[in-house]
Amino acid sequence: MSIDATRDELIVGVIGAGTMGRGIAQVAAVGGCYVKLFDADTAAAVDAVSFIGKMLDRAVERGRMEAADAETARGSIEIVNSAAGLAPCAIVIEAVVEDLEIKRQVFAELETIVSEDAILASNTSSLSVTLIAASCRKPERIAGMHFFNPVPLMRLVEVIEGARTGPGVAETLLDLGKRMGRVAVKVGDAPGFLVNQIGRGFTIESAHIVEDGVAGWYDIDRILRDGIGFRMGPFELMDLTALDTTHPATEMIYRQFYGEPRFRPSLMMSLRREAGLLGRKVGRGFYEYPDGDPVGQAEPEAPAYDGRPVWISSAEPEAAASLRDAVIEVGGKLERGERPSSDALILVTPIGEDATTAAVDQGVDGTRTIAVDTLFGAGRRWTLMRTPVTTPGSAAAAHGLFGGGDVPATVINDGPGFVAQRVVAMIVNIGCAVAQARTSTPEDIDQAVTLALAYPYGPLAWGDAVGPATILRVLQNIYRITGDPRYRPAPWLRRRAQLGVSLLTPED
Ligand code: NAD
Repeated sequence: MSIDATRDELIVGVIGAGTMGRGIAQVAAVGGCYVKLFDADTAAAVDAVSFIGKMLDRAVERGRMEAADAETARGSIEIVNSAAGLAPCAIVIEAVVEDLEIKRQVFAELETIVSEDAILASNTSSLSVTLIAASCRKPERIAGMHFFNPVPLMRLVEVIEGARTGPGVAETLLDLGKRMGRVAVKVGDAPGFLVNQIGRGFTIESAHIVEDGVAGWYDIDRILRDGIGFRMGPFELMDLTALDTTHPATEMIYRQFYGEPRFRPSLMMSLRREAGLLGRKVGRGFYEYPDGDPVGQAEPEAPAYDGRPVWISSAEPEAAASLRDAVIEVGGKLERGERPSSDALILVTPIGEDATTAAVDQGVDGTRTIAVDTLFGAGRRWTLMRTPVTTPGSAAAAHGLFGGGDVPATVINDGPGFVAQRVVAMIVNIGCAVAQARTSTPEDIDQAVTLALAYPYGPLAWGDAVGPATILRVLQNIYRITGDPRYRPAPWLRRRAQLGVSLLTPED
């Protein structure tokens, strides 16, 4: 079967006409396939076709599609009333509920219906494609085709090869994905596939930062959104996806990875899920939604800088130099002595360490010490970290100094890697682990993440932008301070940092 076939020759079946199935049917029809759509609930299929019609009308109104093309697409979707109606399909994409037993039954039935050379693909987001295929008569024709919601707007599709997927099957699905107007990347069968593994670095790491008492979620959202450039903070995002989806998916990835510490679920998320604080859809999650828009905690205003002298440690010479310029720019009274004077505010610039370790190692007074994140957020949103003994006066002076002008500042409690160093290093490290496992190629990892998650960079290019050696240092220091294997650097990262080459450097 050739993906270059004409519309009438390329018949694609979609089974399940819910949120995903209808989107898949739409992009298949728009991409020049003839679609046979089946849902056990006929009303769902009828509703899906009417929904697709509205989507196509809207695309025409907005000038994104010619009316004639919309009409052709509309005329290319046929509802079939039983799975038997999928018999002529060269490829069937399954998008029924996320339940292994139901999916197994659906595949077993499909195998008795379609031709011997038809390909069967599952849109599962968290089940193993290998496991679904294992109970099939011909597991070599089974693969994954993981679309993202909402399908017409999300350009990525992950094509997953199970352990027994035969040669050429993934390639055919990659071509089909392209015909459907998607960017299709090939991914090995791993828990969370590619994108959902890396996305955990953002949400779960942020939840652990809250659990470690370092910062509250409103502050973490502000730091990562304003300071780093994520479109949404992790807690805003979790409110949107809802904890009853996010948390079970995390648990599943963790379990399937046999307890890989990088994916350790968050107890806070579990409790909040049990409490029904699911997010936007129930009106209450990390934020409240009285009128639909998120309402959080107002940001504390920066007090006035009291004019006390500021001394900057030179332990990190580059960071210290850039911080000196920044302090002068915001009107700080800079001290240039070897040691701080007795009333100076002491600024340290740790990379992956906490403020306490920096103060003690550098022999400065912890009660006057504030750590400044110079790696992330400088000039957009400063992150200032106190030690457990930093006096309120010192913290207020730092807050006033950095946050008194146009650029806001957030004061957090002590924790290695602040907020952004820790979250970005985790995202880069998981990206490296995915590359190390050969789950996907370095280019595809970055492309998939920027398309599906809209992060400012792909994880590997991000590591390159910060510097692989710096990311390695962040992780090694967090690992040393916490003793938590979550932070052990992936060999892919360590080797490239040691060799001084890009994290995108491929390996056979
Ligand atoms: P959904 O509940 O919106 O739709 C599922 C549809 O399948 C329903 O219309 C239901 O009637 C139908 N169905 C159930 N059992 C059936 C059967 N035996 N035969 C035929 N039809 C059957 O679900 P969804 O959100 O579209 O998810 C579908 C699949 O896509 C799941 O595997 C899910 O994990 C995956 N997925 C979902 C998302 C998402 O954001 N919703 C994203 C990526 C992947």
